[in-house]
Amino acid sequence: MSLDLPLSPGCSAAPVLRERGQHEVFCGLTGIIWLHRKMQDAFFLVVGSRTCAHLLQSAAGVMIFAEPRFGTAILEEKDLAGLADANAELDREVGRLLARRPDIRQLFLVGSCPSEVIKLDLARAAERMNVQHAPHVRVYNYSGSGIETTFTQGEDACLAAMVPALPATDAAELLVVGALPDVVEDQCLALLNAMGVGPVRMLPARRSGDMPAVGPNSRYILTQPFLGDTAAALDRRGAKRIAAPFPFGEEGTTLWLQAIADVYGVTADRFDAATAAPRARARKAVAAHAATLSGKSLFLFPDSQMEIPLARFLARECGMRPLEVGTPYLHRALMEPELALLPEGPMLSEGQDVDKQLDRHGAQAPDLTVCGLGLANPLESQGFTTKWAIELVFTPVHFYEQAGDLAGLFSRPLRRKALLTAGAKP
Ligand code: SF4
Repeated sequence: MSLDLPLSPGCSAAPVLRERGQHEVFCGLTGIIWLHRKMQDAFFLVVGSRTCAHLLQSAAGVMIFAEPRFGTAILEEKDLAGLADANAELDREVGRLLARRPDIRQLFLVGSCPSEVIKLDLARAAERMNVQHAPHVRVYNYSGSGIETTFTQGEDACLAAMVPALPATDAAELLVVGALPDVVEDQCLALLNAMGVGPVRMLPARRSGDMPAVGPNSRYILTQPFLGDTAAALDRRGAKRIAAPFPFGEEGTTLWLQAIADVYGVTADRFDAATAAPRARARKAVAAHAATLSGKSLFLFPDSQMEIPLARFLARECGMRPLEVGTPYLHRALMEPELALLPEGPMLSEGQDVDKQLDRHGAQAPDLTVCGLGLANPLESQGFTTKWAIELVFTPVHFYEQAGDLAGLFSRPLRRKALLTAGAKP
């Protein structure tokens, strides 16, 4: 079987423009929106201000009416006056919450900019509450503050916080790491099962009772590019990472599965038998959108750390021409297989100075711009065609069956623009 690896080094040795300045990104609190749906017996309690509560309400949209398992303990002025009071108040609120919601088995105390600035020690608070509420509830803490985290880094901080508490094991299990929608997780498990790979455990698990154990014989593989701290925490527990591109698109999924197959000694015949049919479906589904995307130029503003794998997918499977690929943070060790695949040409940028980046964007005038919600409408009003990056974390986009939908997220704005332009003509 040929894996169609490039002969050139791709972007492995390409220079990276590093910028610091004003940036337009979400803070890590937004991760709660998808994490609380994944972990069905967890509650996320943000310790923050009204700003944090408003952010969650607007990011969660209609979900806030469905008794979601997240909330904000709002720091009042009197909490700022004395930290002892703030701790007592937090203990009281948590006690009340857990009494009202006995279904909660995992509680995350999520730090914010205000809790960090006043140096409220949530790690100590979590320890204290663990003693109080064990064994029914396990209390963790991590920071989702805008000072420390950008958007998807909130998931990384959350998962990394869970790793030290995972039970120890000597079993040779495979851990698949990253919060996937349930339907996608099931597809992933079915593919691995068809390859004869197992036992497979997920981090995070749907319920606290199914959390994986970890130890020196564990192998793990990431499904998302933004999980650098989680990977480091698993390394510290002795687990070994399987390096691979990320499972976006037909090629990314195949290479991801192939990396596992190589470690587990899956024969080429068995691999082909497990993947041939879904690969063909994925190729066909992507081709339907590649007709719209092929030859179009692409500019990605930094948002989720998914930009490099997405640019690789859009360039190699959809024929797009990336001009600039921005990422909030470039984790070189995790990104090496992706950089090797990304065709030479685009400027790689890490961090952001938004005005300078907007100038570069304007000068290049790309056909499609991938950016956050704050930039999308202003750029549309200037005549650019944009794709909101946030949809990429809320929509199922991993593995073969979603490859067509992933391409569709990018072709849709171009099609809409073409329809509107055609409609505007007399
Ligand atoms: S954590 Fe910081 S950046 Fe995020 S909503 Fe709260 S104050 Fe704003």
